[in-house]
Amino acid sequence: MRIILLGAPGAGKGTQADSIKSKYPIAHISTGDILRANVKAGTALGKDAKAYMDAGKLVPDDVIVGMMESRLAEADCKEGFMLDGFPRTIAQAEALDKMLTAHGIKLDAVVSLEIDDDTVVSRLTSRRVCKQCGEIYNTVLKPTAKEGVCDKCGGEVVQRDDDRESVIRNRLAVFHTQTAPLIEYYTQKGLLIAVDATGGKDAVLRILEKN
Ligand code: AMP
Repeated sequence: MRIILLGAPGAGKGTQADSIKSKYPIAHISTGDILRANVKAGTALGKDAKAYMDAGKLVPDDVIVGMMESRLAEADCKEGFMLDGFPRTIAQAEALDKMLTAHGIKLDAVVSLEIDDDTVVSRLTSRRVCKQCGEIYNTVLKPTAKEGVCDKCGGEVVQRDDDRESVIRNRLAVFHTQTAPLIEYYTQKGLLIAVDATGGKDAVLRILEKN
C-alpha cells in the first residue's frame, strides 16, 4: 500500500499514521520528523532547515525533494509507504510523480484529513512532546503525571518551537495557500479520500479497511 496523508498541521497525520502502522507494516515517512532529527543532530540539512521551521515556513522544495529521493530509495519502502507531511506543494507533488514513474509504482490513495483552523489552534497550543523519546502529550487531553516529565522515559516534556500560536497561524496560512491546492490536484487524479479529522485515532484505518 502506498498512501499520502494530507492535512493541515495538527490534523493528526502522525496519530493516524501510528494507527495505520498497527495494521499495515509499511514505512512511515514523516518529513517533519526527518527534518527535526537533522536539526537535533546538527547536520548541514538541519542547519539549513531550522530557520524556516521555527518561522512556520516551508523548507525549499529542492531540499525536500532531494531528501525524499534518497528516503524513498531505501529498502523499507519496497513493500509500501505512507507519506506524512510530503508533498506540501504542487512542485513537490510533481517531483513525487516523476520519482514514482521512474520506479514504475503508483499511489493507492491520498487521504485528506479535514479540520477547521480554530480546532487546530486549540489542539496544537496544548500539544507537548518529550525531547528524548518523542512521546506526544496534550495539556488537556493527555497530561503527563508529573509536569514537564515524560511518563515513559523521564525525559523533558516541552512545547515545540513551532507550536506557539503566532507560528501556528503562519503554518495554517502556508497550508491554505501552498498545500491545499493538492486536494484538487489529487481529486483530478481520482486518488482523494476525504476524512473528518475529528473522527478519532482510527478514522483513516477504518476507511482503508473498507476500500
Ligand atoms: P510537520 O511536523 O510535518 O508539521 O513539519 C514541521 C515543519 O517542517 C514545517 O512547518 C516545515 O517548516 C517543515 N516541513 C516538513 N515537511 C515539509 C515539506 N514537505 N516541505 C517543506 N517544508 C516541510
